[in-house]
Amino acid sequence: MLYSRYFIPTLKETPSDAEVVSHQLMLRAGMIRKLAAGIYNYLPLGLRSIRKFENIVREEMNRAGAIEMLMPSVQPAELWQESGRWTFYGKELLRFKDRKESEFCMGPTHEEVITDLVRREIKSYRQMPVNFYQIQTKFRDEIRPRFGLMRGREFIMKDAYSFDVDGSAADESYDKMYQAYMRIFERCGLKFRAVEADTGSIGGSSSHEFMVLAESGEDAIVSCDSCHYAANVEKAEARPDQLDDKVAQLPLEKVATPDKKTIADVADFLGLPSDRTIKTLIYTSGTGDLVMALLRGDHELNEIKLKNSLCWEEIQMASEEQIMAVTGSPIGFLGPIGLKVKIPIIADLGIQGLANTVVGANEKDVHFTNANLERDFQVDRFIDLRNVVSGDACPRCEQGKLEMWRGIEVGHVFKLGTKYSKALNATYLDADGKEQILFMGCYGIGIGRTVAAAIEQNHDKNGIIFPIPIAPFHCSVVALNTKDKGVMAEAEEIYFKLEKCGIEVLFDDRDERPGVKFKDNDLIGIPLQMVIGSKGLAEGKVEVKIRKTGEVLFLPIEDAIAHIQQLVGSSLNYE
Ligand code: ATP
Ligand code: MG
Repeated sequence: MLYSRYFIPTLKETPSDAEVVSHQLMLRAGMIRKLAAGIYNYLPLGLRSIRKFENIVREEMNRAGAIEMLMPSVQPAELWQESGRWTFYGKELLRFKDRKESEFCMGPTHEEVITDLVRREIKSYRQMPVNFYQIQTKFRDEIRPRFGLMRGREFIMKDAYSFDVDGSAADESYDKMYQAYMRIFERCGLKFRAVEADTGSIGGSSSHEFMVLAESGEDAIVSCDSCHYAANVEKAEARPDQLDDKVAQLPLEKVATPDKKTIADVADFLGLPSDRTIKTLIYTSGTGDLVMALLRGDHELNEIKLKNSLCWEEIQMASEEQIMAVTGSPIGFLGPIGLKVKIPIIADLGIQGLANTVVGANEKDVHFTNANLERDFQVDRFIDLRNVVSGDACPRCEQGKLEMWRGIEVGHVFKLGTKYSKALNATYLDADGKEQILFMGCYGIGIGRTVAAAIEQNHDKNGIIFPIPIAPFHCSVVALNTKDKGVMAEAEEIYFKLEKCGIEVLFDDRDERPGVKFKDNDLIGIPLQMVIGSKGLAEGKVEVKIRKTGEVLFLPIEDAIAHIQQLVGSSLNYE
């Protein structure tokens, strides 16, 4: 490809509306341009990286036996009503009507469409296992689209759906996809982890997320420093502390705590550590249900654990009015003792062993000290409600401690069981001619998000450092002085030779100063750069620069070509 005839609109300045590095660099490198919030044009260079990654995904899906197809992005409401998600999916589902007033949505995912297809086409156990995948554009009306391709509203996803005769066959399909995902992200040269995850609105029984490790990641994940346990913090299990207060219970006492509304303020004021206090929170389902959650003062509530334990579809903090109605007190002084209206009380395992604690007295500027479970207040249910923190004991092994990381979720695999097949009545006939429900799995990878995550993980102050497998070009040939016919002729010959060896080359033939060319080639992240100038050519030599290490080799032309071939070959080979 000739740089002068191509379209790479690089920017010198960092765009002010781009918060994360990958977004800034994708704009500066001329890979993407915004059309509307969360909706982007993929410019030629960006598209090349996207296509590279898609091809890796496609190869690994095919290798794992999945079959490619393509489903529409416009989906009829009826299917979503059948699955129950027309109401459940909420505002992320972009809905509209056609000229006949029939309702449709832009597909945010395709469980309904594929299950509808399969219930019509797959009739016998002989047709399974089967796994269909597509690489297709999704639309989710995200509340806060941000970070460029990382959280768009329109974005490209690979989604696959497996269908099996029973749960154990479905487990095998799941394992195959899990292995394929491992290969995909390893082939891209990314540092990542597969972690246990919550199943969210997709549903199902178990799932793993694939997380690219990056400081800017939106997800907090934990892993054990001793065993294989790794999980999203949303899901990570807390092992209850063995705190067991064997002290005598002291009499309950009311104390004035003027304006001390936070746990830290109250603990400070009373001269107690915050783990001797109890945090009281009130949540609502949004449809009238209320619940009180109790945690140790130094712990944080995990809303997903609370929501899952209640089987609510939505969860939000109760309003001030709701709280006033239940407790008679403003926020900051809530507690489980003396409620005006009885509501269920759920407590974290961590408060089980506590004695003589501090709780709000449901009265402005007042707390109780020496509050004791059973004697002073009752709890309906104890469950694991809190977020784990760094240093917590591993829930799986005896000796391990949990470490925290930041990650970007690039892939997600789910065991769906019969959630969608039951709702849509997708059945098959078994060997005895009996009708049975299909078992499903679904498997997504964010295509644009993975490319963005790769940049988030691989960049320096000069720009992107693409891993070779997803770089838009493997190599550039930079001619230093385009007015020098000898240099241009030699550079052109090298360009042709490299292309002949299967190397994807960007030939920087622009009539620009060397400094400008070096800057652009670094910014757009070309992994290998060959620099050709008259001085070197006089000795029959050229420079080869490795973008990642900054290493520069001065080599005879044929050796330089061989070296580049070898570097590209070894990075693309994956067995
Ligand atoms: P998130 O929690 O980040 O919103 P999700 O759990 O909603 O993700 P899935 O429904 O599992 O995502 O979708 C599969 C994959 O699609 C995700 O792992 C992610 O890589 C990608 N993806 C999801 N939402 C977006 C988005 N708004 N923009 C870009 N990629 C996305
Ligand atoms: Mg989402």
